[in-house]
Amino acid sequence: MKTEGKKYIHWQENAQPVWKKIVVESHLPDSLAPLRELSKNLWWVWNTPAEKLFEYIDKEMWNECAHNPVVMLDLVSFKRFRELENDSRFMADMNHVYGQFMQYLEERKDPGNMQIAYFSMEYGLHDSLKIYSGGLGMLAGDYLKEASDMKVNLVAVGLLYRFGYFKQALNLHGEQMANYEFQDFSKIPVQPVLDEKGGWLKIEVDLPGRRLAARIWQVNIGAIKLYLLDADLPENQEQDRHITHHLYGGDNENRLKQEILLGIGGIRALEKLGHHADLYHCNEGHAAFIGIERLAGIMEKHGLNFTEAKEVVRSSTIFTTHTPVPAGHDSFHDNQFKYYMESFPGRLGLDWETFSKLGKAKSHEDHFNMSYLASNLSQGINGVSKLHGAVSKTVLKELYQGYLKEELEIGYVTNGVHYSSWTAQEWKNIHKEYFGEEFPKNQLDFDVWNHIYQAPEEKIWELRKTLRAKLINYIKERFSDSWVKRNENPKLITEVKNKLDPNALTIGFARRFATYKRGYLLFRDLDRLSKIVNNPERPVQFIFAGKAHPADKAGQDLIKYIVEISRRPEFVGKILFIQNYDINLAKMLLQGVDVWLNTPTRPLEASGTSGMKGVMNGTLHFSVLDGWWVEGYRKDAGWALPAERTYDVQDFQDELDAETIYNILEEEIVETFYDRNKEGVSAEWVDIIKNTIAQVAPHFTTGRMMQDYHERYYLPQFERSRNMVNENFKWAKELAAWKLKISSVWDQIELKKTEVADGAHNVMKIGQDYPVRVEVDLKGLSCDEVGLELVITENGTREEPQIVEILHFEADACEGSVCCFKLNYHPVHPGSFNYGFRLYPKNEGLPHRQDFKYIKWL
Ligand SMILES: *Cc1c(COP(=O)(O)O)cnc(C)c1O
Repeated sequence: MKTEGKKYIHWQENAQPVWKKIVVESHLPDSLAPLRELSKNLWWVWNTPAEKLFEYIDKEMWNECAHNPVVMLDLVSFKRFRELENDSRFMADMNHVYGQFMQYLEERKDPGNMQIAYFSMEYGLHDSLKIYSGGLGMLAGDYLKEASDMKVNLVAVGLLYRFGYFKQALNLHGEQMANYEFQDFSKIPVQPVLDEKGGWLKIEVDLPGRRLAARIWQVNIGAIKLYLLDADLPENQEQDRHITHHLYGGDNENRLKQEILLGIGGIRALEKLGHHADLYHCNEGHAAFIGIERLAGIMEKHGLNFTEAKEVVRSSTIFTTHTPVPAGHDSFHDNQFKYYMESFPGRLGLDWETFSKLGKAKSHEDHFNMSYLASNLSQGINGVSKLHGAVSKTVLKELYQGYLKEELEIGYVTNGVHYSSWTAQEWKNIHKEYFGEEFPKNQLDFDVWNHIYQAPEEKIWELRKTLRAKLINYIKERFSDSWVKRNENPKLITEVKNKLDPNALTIGFARRFATYKRGYLLFRDLDRLSKIVNNPERPVQFIFAGKAHPADKAGQDLIKYIVEISRRPEFVGKILFIQNYDINLAKMLLQGVDVWLNTPTRPLEASGTSGMKGVMNGTLHFSVLDGWWVEGYRKDAGWALPAERTYDVQDFQDELDAETIYNILEEEIVETFYDRNKEGVSAEWVDIIKNTIAQVAPHFTTGRMMQDYHERYYLPQFERSRNMVNENFKWAKELAAWKLKISSVWDQIELKKTEVADGAHNVMKIGQDYPVRVEVDLKGLSCDEVGLELVITENGTREEPQIVEILHFEADACEGSVCCFKLNYHPVHPGSFNYGFRLYPKNEGLPHRQDFKYIKWL
């Protein structure tokens, strides 16, 4: 045998495996075709029964695919499909869900007659669609879902990023690694938009010396279509293919190119797709070029001049600003801006100088500001909370010289969250039980939410327990996977897992790690923190998560610091940082933690939305009174740190705020949570939950937000913009002509005389009348084309004078081109004041004074 065998020994040198490629496409049996259809519309994301269908197919696979049904349906075995076909319960469920889906679409077949085009740089819809980075995107995503639910006729435009925003991984030292993953567009819920001949629908925009092409993709969000532009095409120059590679990646120049594509390309895409929207909503200044492209389009198509077209564009545009610091607003240096935009003024019949004024507040500025552009081309401007509306007046006030800040026509619509996307199914069931079967369709009936007071306290307590336990399990899985990957000490992993306690008071803090959000505040006194978390009878645990922008070193250092603290023996399993904050983690956290903590530096949190996601789930909010919480906070419905700053020095303010946080934690939050009755329930805690749901939650849904946008902006602007275009733009032309007339003589207007009777020596007596008379040479304007007002302000020390009173003069022609203004001043308040006479152009057709910014202080 031995010698026999030897014969067969030889060296195999050419026996490497040879692989040939075949692709076997999964075959979904016809009977399961509804699954494919459901996978292509994000409706399933906020309809739990639909989501459950996918999960049921193969739970493990569903998690491995990160809840992406497009990927999953390609992976499921034919055998499993056959099983499902024979699973009568599954088939019944699927057909039921599919029936509901079809009915939902059917009910939205006839769109309303006011179409809104919505533009945003990012949209947070589902983790498989990596076109969001944080709050701005989440808001836009929720808004689209709500638009679908509320049958609003809206189309949305954005960009499709090849690598999206980064995935966060932390190494052993807590250093953030930003991983950009290549997106295979065939595996995400986007579909090509084709023309009649089956070719891909594309648009082009001009870049210096070349054209940039982009193809159009479509995302279905219920009945809403979101169109995404993608420049990663072989016909583009290599460098231009990168334009849509990263969200908020690259340099300022790339940002400019992205914004050209979003604004100018976006309008062209809608044109190609045959959408002629009535209103254009610019979500943040990124998309402000929509105004420019529309101006050019209207001028070319209807033969209007620039000022006429501007009336049309302004009346139909709404600009929502989200950024409370001036530096946060995109702007581009003149040289760079001119290099890219040089051809534009020609299309608008303007010279470069005039054109560039559209993005400037003062002529000597050397940057073109996108928020200024958006403001100049929008009738409606709003911030995203009441406080932020006021803050935005400061940010934009340079644009409206001659007006006091408080007079500015900058309103607000407080953000909201999409109820069905963020509320746990367990809560949805309770809500249906107590608010009625119609819920959440009737969520705008705020009284309905009061029925939560009828729910038994044990039921709510149990529900919270269930959700917390779910979260703790999820976290154990999620963090141990990532810790194993980074070769974390197995002992530490076990220790954390053992210490995480599904019954402990659990507090969450997750958001972008920008310094203003002050993630460090909790750690100012580690001894005290340690006592709080390690109390054996009343344990507390903190879960942190969040990404820092790759260019934000301070934010990354903060993450590192928290990770280091979480490894100290006294904090292991008590303070945990979970990497890669995404929508799914946000959902688990906001449904599962007991308290959501937010510690921004006032007034830098424009709105904040994560806390609203919490309150939908009875997660109690504990935050600085900033952003939405100024409006949301009620006594016994959460906790607040005072709104007023005590110190100018940030470090002192931080110290004070940290102290307050510890006090509230120790004396109120921990105390209340562990104050149990004999059933083991904290009745007071449940009361606070009920107050939160009855009094806070109803006001922070995207439903309420959509309603506010309609009432404050969409409906009035729809009517006015209609009137602008009627009868071949008659009114636009008249108004434009009038504005031209005013502006041509404005600088020559001359004050002739002012007389304040008996007001000698500038001392007046209360109760007496002081006739005031002002004569102005209007240089040919008639007396009723201008208004004159007496503006009285406090003579205080404040930087910005506060208005005490504004009184309007009566006007009479006196002689020639001179107009006499008369007023009887009747002082009622004692004190020392400043006063001034202010002349402004007057026309009933203006939606508000700053629509035509001319002003003259006499
Ligand atoms: C809601 C949400 C945000 C925004 O939260 P803020 O409270 O505004 O900071 C950011 N990221 C994700 C994943 C979210 O779900």
